[in-house]
Amino acid sequence: MEFETAAIHSGVRPDNCYGALSVPIYQTSTFVFEDIGKTRGYDYTRSGNPTRKVLEDTIARLEGGHAAFACATGMAAITTVLHLLKAGDHIISCDDIYGGTYRLFRSVMSRFGIEVSFVCLRNRADLEAAIRPNTRMIWLETPSNPLLNITDLEMVAAVAKERKIMTVLDNTFASPVFLQPVSFGIDLVVHSTTKYLNGHCDVVGGAIVTTTPELSQEVGFLVNAMGVSQAPFDAWLVLRGIETLHIRMAQHEKNSIAIARFLKEQPGIRKVYYPGLPEHPGHEIARRQMTGFGGVVSFEMEGGFEEASRVLRGLRLFALAESLGGVASLAEHPVTMSHASMSAEHRQRVGITDSLIRLSVGLEHTDDLTADLAQALQPGA
Ligand SMILES: *Cc1c(COP(=O)(O)O)cnc(C)c1O
Repeated sequence: MEFETAAIHSGVRPDNCYGALSVPIYQTSTFVFEDIGKTRGYDYTRSGNPTRKVLEDTIARLEGGHAAFACATGMAAITTVLHLLKAGDHIISCDDIYGGTYRLFRSVMSRFGIEVSFVCLRNRADLEAAIRPNTRMIWLETPSNPLLNITDLEMVAAVAKERKIMTVLDNTFASPVFLQPVSFGIDLVVHSTTKYLNGHCDVVGGAIVTTTPELSQEVGFLVNAMGVSQAPFDAWLVLRGIETLHIRMAQHEKNSIAIARFLKEQPGIRKVYYPGLPEHPGHEIARRQMTGFGGVVSFEMEGGFEEASRVLRGLRLFALAESLGGVASLAEHPVTMSHASMSAEHRQRVGITDSLIRLSVGLEHTDDLTADLAQALQPGA
């Protein structure tokens, strides 16, 4: 089955009770046993639910994984994966990551004796130099948030396999439409399904994709033991979103390319970050390992905070809001919003400046979006 078909037909469909074409929402906490010690496949919704199972089977298939687990939020998925580690373990994380993941590493996991080194993973020597005897996990985001840096997955997976270190990739930005981390030898994939997979900004959710029976066993155990699984109705919304994922991603990208090119030509802009631009430092690697460049474009205004604020206030179609991946375009200010929990020193080191603006390019007509940006950028607007 090709991707588009798998997005619509994976898992038990139609429903094997009444043949419902749309996956039924099993809105129940518990399931009646047939007899002592005998269930019909499910006993309690924290442990398993037929609606959520269809979503999990669909995500596993689209990512080419062994199994998938749908979680309450993206952070729930990330937290669960970190519980594969134990006190004394060390993580190497790429430098500019989602602010919430950074906060979890720095302020929560540190309390449990797990250390994290933030490293620019652009070259092999820097990665190898960061490896310690207790390094157990390499944490990746590509394209990264919010600067859209690209990591060479073939390189990282080769180093990790040699040293027997587990690799985890947060594939929220690219989605499985544009990037298939498992095909590069990545061990675990996580998602905030809140973003592109759901695609409509009406739910929060997360997912973990595993690649071996052992990992599936361990992650499945943790999801149930920690109680992070997703509610049936939320799982159903994500499932419905996924059915149109490939079409949405194509349009997000088309609009993003047009906007990145447009922004490049505008006065008052210092730098445009989009891996689809030939001058982006990760462009060649992105071309090699992805089938599209995604729907997020960041740009830095000349001047500082005041200039970025002026543009953000001037936008009419782009809503001033965190998050990304929905049908409606959003604009945000990483320093005060998505990356406020990152230390100022860390932000400065990786290049997240006061005048940086991140766009989540939606599915509106390209011309309306560029016109909105044009009027907001106009000096004195
Ligand atoms: C939003 C996001 C998360 C966190 O997901 P939630 O669903 O908000 O908990 C993690 N990683 C990335 C890349 C994100 O964009």
